[in-house]
Amino acid sequence: MGVKVVVDMAASVSSGEPASHAELVERCLVKRNIWLRFPDALEWRFQQAGEARRRWMITAFGALAVGFFAALLVPDLLLTDDVVWTVSWWVRLIVFPGIIGFGLAWVHRVRHPMVLERLVGLAGMIAAALMVFVLSRSASPWAYSRIVELNIVVVFTCAFARFWPALSMCAFVGFVHGLGTWLMPDPTGILAASTSVLLGTTVLFALSASYKLEHDERMAYLLDQRERALQAQLQEANDRLARVATTDPLTGVANRRAFDDFLGAAWMRSQAQGLPLGLIMVDIDWFKRYNDHHGHQAGDRCLIAVAQAIQGCLRRTGDLVARLGGEEFAVVMTDADAQAVHAAAARICEAVRQLGLPHGASPFQVVTVSVGLASAQSDVHPEAAALLQAADLALYRAKEAGRNRVSNGQVRQEAA
Ligand code: GH3
Ligand code: MG
Ligand code: MG
Repeated sequence: MGVKVVVDMAASVSSGEPASHAELVERCLVKRNIWLRFPDALEWRFQQAGEARRRWMITAFGALAVGFFAALLVPDLLLTDDVVWTVSWWVRLIVFPGIIGFGLAWVHRVRHPMVLERLVGLAGMIAAALMVFVLSRSASPWAYSRIVELNIVVVFTCAFARFWPALSMCAFVGFVHGLGTWLMPDPTGILAASTSVLLGTTVLFALSASYKLEHDERMAYLLDQRERALQAQLQEANDRLARVATTDPLTGVANRRAFDDFLGAAWMRSQAQGLPLGLIMVDIDWFKRYNDHHGHQAGDRCLIAVAQAIQGCLRRTGDLVARLGGEEFAVVMTDADAQAVHAAAARICEAVRQLGLPHGASPFQVVTVSVGLASAQSDVHPEAAALLQAADLALYRAKEAGRNRVSNGQVRQEAA
């Protein structure tokens, strides 16, 4: 069953119609999603789905970044103390926390997940630029060697950012590294080469990890969406099957199977709760003649009209109308006393007559029904079958007495 549904989805992918969510999911699963970008509609849903979690992750990232950036005051004091009280302290304790604080306040207002992702990359770029700015103000011979701290920015940001913003950030860090190398004296003359190689390697590993993380996250989302779609389809198929199994296809009322189940359950409930239960049997009069006279298709239309008329006579949703077969219907009335059942039976008889469906082969000239009813009081406890038998017998008596009438049946007490 599951395999068939997947095949169906794939088949509809190739048609020219606008793709549904499930089709987009299948399409992306086939393509393996190498560019880390879904078609717009799906991309938006993906971003929306994880937005709240990402928002808090990004907040944690911002807080950690501020802490990490402030901690660099320690190497500032140890290696480049000439800038600590001029630029370093206010860049590390005021400018960067200010920018991140402002960004985070904005993050919690902006309801656009893609902007959110770009802000993470941007934060990494700002950190890198400020780092090189601080170092470039120092005359210390150690200043240039501290450019390796950019590697931390790369790793740290890649761990939080999505791949594409991380890639932009890495490109920018590469540029800042070049700028720093140009601005600051390299005391050994060979540091620039090794810091470049180190940065290149770090970027490569960090980006690979970021790519894999995001790719896995996207694939997990697609598989989860496929699972949900399959479950929904399965549920729908089950519902449809249950409907088909319990509904009479011609009239739309319950079928024999549903009637048996309902009557059994209603019987048990009425026994347990001491409530009365009513059963009405309805049979169209001279229906064979109707078919012969007006045709089988008119006969079908008549069955539908009678079913609707019966349904229209019931006032509570707890009552069930069923077509037992041929031109015979039944009504189960839960918690209805003998008076209420008789009133409903009379309403049914009258309602069908009032339909005024011409019946050329009936002495009444219109379609009529004979109705038999039986009612079980709470102090009488025969079998459900006895109720059925009593209503059937009453229906037979209504036919015998001339049709187009209601007959009341007696439930035999000794069956209890
Ligand atoms: P009575 O007044 O004694 O009930 O006579 P009747 O002719 O109604 O009863 P009988 O049982 O002799 O005939 C029932 C007819 O119902 C026979 C059959 O052709 C017809 N019938 C049964 N199912 C369908 C159906 O689905 N569609 C149509 N058009 N006719 C049906
Ligand atoms: Mg009949
Ligand atoms: Mg019949």
